[in-house]
Amino acid sequence: MSAPSRSALLVLAAAVLAACSTAAPVSGSPTPVSSPAALASPSPATHDTPPPPVPVPPRVVVLDPGHNGGNSRDRATVTAPVPDGRGGTKPCNTTGTQTDSGYTEHAFTWDLAQRVRDKLTAKGITVVMTRDSDTGVGPCVDARGAAGEKADADAVVSLHADGSAPANTGFHVAYADPPLNPAQAGPAHVLSADLRDALRTGGFPVSDYIGRDGLSPRRDLAGLNLSTRPTALVECANMRNAGEAALLSSADGRERYATAIAAGIQTYLAR
Ligand code: ZN
Repeated sequence: MSAPSRSALLVLAAAVLAACSTAAPVSGSPTPVSSPAALASPSPATHDTPPPPVPVPPRVVVLDPGHNGGNSRDRATVTAPVPDGRGGTKPCNTTGTQTDSGYTEHAFTWDLAQRVRDKLTAKGITVVMTRDSDTGVGPCVDARGAAGEKADADAVVSLHADGSAPANTGFHVAYADPPLNPAQAGPAHVLSADLRDALRTGGFPVSDYIGRDGLSPRRDLAGLNLSTRPTALVECANMRNAGEAALLSSADGRERYATAIAAGIQTYLAR
């Protein structure tokens, strides 16, 4: 078979280029149609090869284990007023609650946060904690509220357990309301609902004493008010209820909570 004439090649090249007219050019200056090299072998990078995938940076989650083990021995620091995000002040932090048998909320949230962290990091998610031990003081709630932006986080989840009347049971997820920024206006609600759904799927009942359907809009929680990233606060259960206290105090129970909370966070990140 004889070699195609130059004019035939020009027609062929024009047809190929027309067919690919919607493809983005590989470089800023496309090869001229009249280039002999382009006519002899159309660049596969121009016509057939999809652009290389854009690397996806790891997702970042801030976990905020409520309170701290040293809070009870530094009253001056813990009671000092800090901004509450709505023009007022709140104490820097509190000691948190505990079960009737003395299992503390700070110990519970610290253990739970480590379990959730390990599950998320196993999935390639970067986790930043607001405290690195259960023996320190603070941080204050305003610093906890700023942690999401500082870490450039995709989501922030604060972990707590409640201290309510003994008959009260169930978990609830709180978010800032009325919202003070775009992250609070929509994404925080979605994150809260994803956590609520995951806890429900994990077999935990919604609160029968606060909020509605497991969700609780709050205007008084500084850590939520001051956050510019999607943020939710999980009150896992009532430490003053005997049945829930037993669950929170057991490693198996905490593992169940961690599994559900990690699943809820992953559902949110996958949106
Ligand atoms: Zn708490």
